[in-house]
Amino acid sequence: MEKEMQIKRSGLIALGVLVILVVISFFIGGHDGKLHVYFLDIGQGDAMFVQTPGGKQILIDGGPDQTVLQRLGEVMPFYDRTIDLVVATHPDADHLAGLVSVLEKYRVASILETGMQCETALCAEWEKIVPKEQAVMNYGNLGEEINIEEGVKLLILNPFFELKDQKLSSRNNGAVVLKLMYGKQTVLLTADIEASIERKMLVSDLNLKADFLKIAHHGSKTSTTEDFLKAVAPKAAFIEVGRRNRYGHPTEEVLGRLENLSIPYYRTDTQGTIELVLDGKDYQILTGSPR
Ligand SMILES: [Zn+2]
Repeated sequence: MEKEMQIKRSGLIALGVLVILVVISFFIGGHDGKLHVYFLDIGQGDAMFVQTPGGKQILIDGGPDQTVLQRLGEVMPFYDRTIDLVVATHPDADHLAGLVSVLEKYRVASILETGMQCETALCAEWEKIVPKEQAVMNYGNLGEEINIEEGVKLLILNPFFELKDQKLSSRNNGAVVLKLMYGKQTVLLTADIEASIERKMLVSDLNLKADFLKIAHHGSKTSTTEDFLKAVAPKAAFIEVGRRNRYGHPTEEVLGRLENLSIPYYRTDTQGTIELVLDGKDYQILTGSPR
């Protein structure tokens, strides 16, 4: 009888622990019915993680090294080893290098990239590891819409044509530009595009208006022109940039343009990982401290 009680009690304790674990992972996993965009603090480069209300996960670029694994560990549940979509905007090391370690550690269901020609050692490594992932490949371009789940989609705004196996004079300008759309709320992610592509988008009459903007090319002065900023007219801007980087990013010029238009901005070098939370109507921006 006593033994039976003990078994019952330990069973209850086990059940209690399980419930607590499920509740904790529910909150860590961000399943709060909102859409979360994390501008990860990965040094000089880009890496953005999106968690949708329905639990889909998207990683856009991976930063310059393995730091991204640590950062993903901070925003994903500890047991989660899958990512629905990885986007490699362009094959420069400050965006692509971290994605190699992501493919090593996570099961990735689909990969969006341009497939542009690239002959670096890093690209050779990437081209070797990608087929092993057996992910669905997408070499998307302008106008393509990717449905993530009901109410959440990605719209491709650049490149203008499929770039698979094409040799480009500027990889930055071939980069994948995405508009993340969640109901009426939109986030424009401009990778490293420069002024010439901004102009091309403007004269092509693309709908650039967005509530939030990831500043192109880490705040380089050759991007984020005044005309482009006016067309996007974001409520807030985000700059992915490394502390004391050797490029002088973000530049005084870009910060000045943002200030002139009264656009508040957040930067990963001074504020660490930045979290943008969207509920379809309102938003919240949470900043950490740089590590
Ligand atoms: Zn870059």
